Amino acid sequence: MNVSAQYSARPNAAPGFYGTWQGDTAIIALCDGILPFPLDKLYLNTTPEHVRERLSAHRQELPAPGPFNAFLIAQHNRVILIDTGSGDLGGPALGHLADHLQAAGYHPDQVNDVILTHLHSDHFGGLIRNGDMAFANARVHIPKRDADFFLDPAQMAKAPAPMQPHFKNAMACIPPYADAGRVSLFDDNEAPLPGIARSILLPGHSPGHSGIIIKTEANDVLCWGDIMHGDILQFEDPDIAICFDVDARAAISSRKQALNLAVQENCLVAGSHIAFPGLGHVLRHQDENAYCWHPVALQSQP
Ligand SMILES: [Zn+2]
Repeated sequence: MNVSAQYSARPNAAPGFYGTWQGDTAIIALCDGILPFPLDKLYLNTTPEHVRERLSAHRQELPAPGPFNAFLIAQHNRVILIDTGSGDLGGPALGHLADHLQAAGYHPDQVNDVILTHLHSDHFGGLIRNGDMAFANARVHIPKRDADFFLDPAQMAKAPAPMQPHFKNAMACIPPYADAGRVSLFDDNEAPLPGIARSILLPGHSPGHSGIIIKTEANDVLCWGDIMHGDILQFEDPDIAICFDVDARAAISSRKQALNLAVQENCLVAGSHIAFPGLGHVLRHQDENAYCWHPVALQSQP
């Protein structure tokens, strides 16, 4: 019997959840799924040859595994979910967040607040499951700029074809919560949950794309959404953008702002499209504008 085939036949070899602590706050990464990312075709302001060369130097292959992470924050008596994964919108490789939430020991009804970093389908699709609200007791917090943009039919009419699904999906997933009076919009840099979670406008990937900063007894946690796709190229050269950015120029300056914040405040960073669990720290190279990613070391509960 081929024992390696025995393993590859497993339906889901992807990791599901991983939790770490900042003081009394549990930060739990939830894997929604993994898709191949042809980064040599997706990055802007570089060449496919450079992308291949740098990934190869780090022993990474193309297409790179493209992770989709969301984060559960459990603090005192509050359960906060930062982004929801794709739900039913992303095909069979995605949409596993709900299962991994339960595997981590939480029930969707326990989620008090869902805070969205931006209105792309892979971040809000999990709001709806089998046609119903997936989080029966949650208030949903959305950056106002993204709500104004993605829920506006006039903006949808002007948007390029690849962006259309985000509009259509947002117009389907948000209204059930809005009709129930459970949507709050937060302004630029406003705190969705004062004293607990504040926001920092990091526009470019979308108009209202925002980092969510969780205050803990230890250092802050910076959930920076889609500031990074991958964990090599855009750290080495933050001027490299990705074709999904609505405004690549703004996204580049937001990336530099987020990197500097992470370094200066020594934040624990939580990234949506960084290898699972997407939790780690940013270090700055001494004499240049280059950074590197140090993932947390996985450990078992004490
Ligand atoms: Zn994303």
